[in-house]
Amino acid sequence: MRVAIYPGTFDPITYGHIDIAERAVTLFDKIVITIAVNSSKKPLFSIDERKKMIMESVSYLSNIEVDAFEGLLMDYVKTKKAAAVIRGLRAISDFEYELQMALMNRKLAEDVVTVFLMPNVNYTYLNSTIVKEVASFGGDISGLVPPGVERRLREKFPKAIHSGIKKY
Ligand code: ADP
Repeated sequence: MRVAIYPGTFDPITYGHIDIAERAVTLFDKIVITIAVNSSKKPLFSIDERKKMIMESVSYLSNIEVDAFEGLLMDYVKTKKAAAVIRGLRAISDFEYELQMALMNRKLAEDVVTVFLMPNVNYTYLNSTIVKEVASFGGDISGLVPPGVERRLREKFPKAIHSGIKKY
């Protein structure tokens, strides 16, 4: 059984994350999408909300588990007896940080491989932060996140009506 861990903040999950998950399931027997909890960060969605959104969004993929953890990724990988870590690479801007992380993780656990996957070009500009920002101003986020995520984002920003700009 070849298991790979796909870690991230997923605050919230986007079609970019899902694109990577879809590619990863073709390579491994099981993918664990896991929320890496960082108590010094202040996410918009709770761990439970994020888990639910991930589960709903990838329910059509059979070999996926959804989980959350706090601590060192490589310790978590060992508890899951995983062989690999999946990361998405969008642009050169991702590369430097991802290289650093991958090499540090290799130092911590030499037998665990980091696999980088590229999303469909349509998602290369997409990240959770930009989606939250657009949603907070009532902008159109359809096509960037699944409908359930879009609904929850609207609930988080109930007053966000797209009413143009305010000038000062
Ligand atoms: P974000 O950068 O959106 O806050 P996360 O920490 O949730 O992302 O990201 C988890 C993983 O998913 C990272 O490897 C990240 O590069 C990847 N990822 C995020 N958004 C995309 C996207 N649009 N296309 C491909 N990979 C992505």
